[in-house]
Amino acid sequence: MIDPWGSSIIDYEKLTEQFGIRPFSEVVDDIDNPSKLMTRGIIFGQRDYKQITNALKNNKEFATMTGMMPSGRMHIGHKMVVDQLKWYQEQGSDIYVSIADMEAYAARGINKEKARDLALNEYIVNYIALGLDVTRDNFHLYLQSENDDVKNLAYILGKKVTFSQMRSIYGFDNSANVAHIYTPLLQVADILHPQLEKYGGPKPVIVPVGPDQDPHIRLTRDLASKFNEEYGFIEPSATFHRFMTGLTGEKMSSSKPKSAIYLTDTIKDATKKVKSAKTGGRESLKEQKELGGHPDQCSIYELLVYHLIDDDKKLEEIRNKCLSGEIVCGNCKQCASELLTDMFEDINSKREEAQKIAQTLLK
Ligand code: SF4
Repeated sequence: MIDPWGSSIIDYEKLTEQFGIRPFSEVVDDIDNPSKLMTRGIIFGQRDYKQITNALKNNKEFATMTGMMPSGRMHIGHKMVVDQLKWYQEQGSDIYVSIADMEAYAARGINKEKARDLALNEYIVNYIALGLDVTRDNFHLYLQSENDDVKNLAYILGKKVTFSQMRSIYGFDNSANVAHIYTPLLQVADILHPQLEKYGGPKPVIVPVGPDQDPHIRLTRDLASKFNEEYGFIEPSATFHRFMTGLTGEKMSSSKPKSAIYLTDTIKDATKKVKSAKTGGRESLKEQKELGGHPDQCSIYELLVYHLIDDDKKLEEIRNKCLSGEIVCGNCKQCASELLTDMFEDINSKREEAQKIAQTLLK
């Protein structure tokens, strides 16, 4: 069972086999200008992505949906979602972002005001500073608690799901509060509501998520088919991206400051974290020069692949030099620190303006 509220799964192959997620490599060649996250295998899995490749090829309308449960600081791993939203926005997709304040309350006890504040001032400010254009007409941001279409749809969808189904998908036990048991239906409604007549009617919807969110995707697809006759819902598509390894070697997490580089860290703190990160290097310098390092077990190399180096050739060169022992971890850390500094300077220079724009949203 996958737990969307606390999972740390990393066995991607097992996951695809067990839950029927298809490899993204099956569809990547059908995309004209795939993103780096796609070509580098960071987006590793998909459900029904053919609908999206068709929409892209034929210039057909589709929507991209994401949700955020504001509960902590935004770290560099979260940037992956923004990068995907940006890519879909560039392809002409409508972008829907739900602030899951009702879920934050039910699952974490965070009240609406705090959720709203965190969402706007921590997440959305960074989304804007990272380049998402929230001023376009095709960008839609809302609080779950203030979206009656979503809330009403969630209630209706609830008619065709039983408690035993919710328990088998999510593992709720007798101590689960009823509001929490209800929140997956709100997420399902988040994903399906762009297909309501008011929002332009049935259309393909892509939901880019981490694999821990697959229970929501499966429930959504099941309910979309059950309500197809009444609403014409098309089963939404999904992609699944890898989680970033934390700087300490475990999953990067907002609640573990040493594992994560927060987007609001000072440059000094961020580069200090890079310098003390766990790498795939050998015990001694001598050994590393003789035997080479392990780039595939290295949080610094991952940082370069996910966020800091665009040029595939340059990455390959670093990888080969690591494997042959030609470079050592100090070289890579220096390179990552410099690139991260550039990225942070860019984000910081845009944050003030982003703050102003964010305050104009959710009026
Ligand atoms: Fe990682 Fe670079 Fe060290 Fe290789 S040399 S293990 S890529 S930090």
